[in-house]
Amino acid sequence: MAEILCLNAGSSSLKFALYAEPGTDEPSLLASGKIENIGLEPHLIARDAKGDVLADRRWTKDVTITHETLLKDLLREIEASVGEDLIAVGHRIVHGGADYSAPARVDAPLLAALEALCPLAPLHQPHNLAAVRAVSRLRPALLQVACFDTGFHHGQPPVATRLALPRALGEEGMRRYGFHGISYEYIARQLRLIDPDTGGGRTIAAHLGNGASLCAMDGGRSIDTTMGFTALDGLVMGTRCGALDPGAVLYLLQQRGMTAREVEHLLYSESGLLGVSGTSSDMRALLGSETPAAGEAIDLFVWQIARQAGALASSLGGLDSFVFTAGIGENAPEIRARVADRLRWLGVALDTDANLRGASVISAPFSRVTVRIIPTDEEWMIAIHTADLLREEPKP
Ligand code: ADP
Repeated sequence: MAEILCLNAGSSSLKFALYAEPGTDEPSLLASGKIENIGLEPHLIARDAKGDVLADRRWTKDVTITHETLLKDLLREIEASVGEDLIAVGHRIVHGGADYSAPARVDAPLLAALEALCPLAPLHQPHNLAAVRAVSRLRPALLQVACFDTGFHHGQPPVATRLALPRALGEEGMRRYGFHGISYEYIARQLRLIDPDTGGGRTIAAHLGNGASLCAMDGGRSIDTTMGFTALDGLVMGTRCGALDPGAVLYLLQQRGMTAREVEHLLYSESGLLGVSGTSSDMRALLGSETPAAGEAIDLFVWQIARQAGALASSLGGLDSFVFTAGIGENAPEIRARVADRLRWLGVALDTDANLRGASVISAPFSRVTVRIIPTDEEWMIAIHTADLLREEPKP
């Protein structure tokens, strides 16, 4: 059986999903999992499609254990358990820049172009590309496909992508790109299945995980989003600040004497829910905490979602549906209820029981806006694109 492996490589984690590629139908999940805590004491957990544990392995701290050695072990485990017929690897790549919108076969020129984008996504892009390189070394003959988090936003109107900076900077690539595009593409696809005529009409999708953003979609096409030039912009996130007055950055540099590296670390890794609560970036922990600072972090998270959703509703000229997705969006009824409450003026009304149950439609029958929970599946979307490119490959 031919298989496709999907990889999402981060600084300390490697998420993966393995699909059977039947050649015609959609790929079907065989196994998925992640290796966490890379660099400290890595922990691999893999489950089959039913959720039963296939592998649970821990490594003790050892400097020779790297992303690449772990990937090598993973490939070996996959081949030992499902057979040696891995035919392609699809990667989540955070940034495709201005030139790459559609998923692309990885080759040397593409890799060089993506490398040049690392400064725009310093927390993600280098790790994404390191996984591509590691697979090239371990299995040079395998087809590798890059799927871009920026791709889905490429069709936005120019006004949504422009920064109000001197034109020359815009021409050299300083513009709003938007991220979480693989997740939004999946949501748009699901909405089209549910509602083939309008694809959900004018929809705001809220991807609320450790990273968080909103996307305004009209008939399934992105027309505006809250992340911008980098994945720092927009909503309050686990450890990222979200939208911030650029004057605040100047203040940190000029008045506080911080270096650019220190400011980068502050904004990407010490801010957001963690910075405001002073204790945790994890929404579950904050919801369970009784400290006032944890409550203030949640208040700000909700406030910014509603505030920025109002802006996106304006970009759309109204609102027909709202979708919650990702870790917080799929699992935290209290956050959904609080966001919905702040969006009552737009015609949002929740069905309390449906929200608590986590039903697929959670709006009340009389709500002008249909509110849904759609669990995202970025890996499946990557598998679909990888399978499509496989079909375009010349047959040996
Ligand atoms: P990532 O962006 O790393 O993929 P996820 O989409 O897994 O993140 O989302 C992680 C976030 O989801 C964390 O803040 C976590 O606390 C939150 N989360 C997961 N389950 C729940 C839950 N049952 N209640 C509240 N928050 C949850």
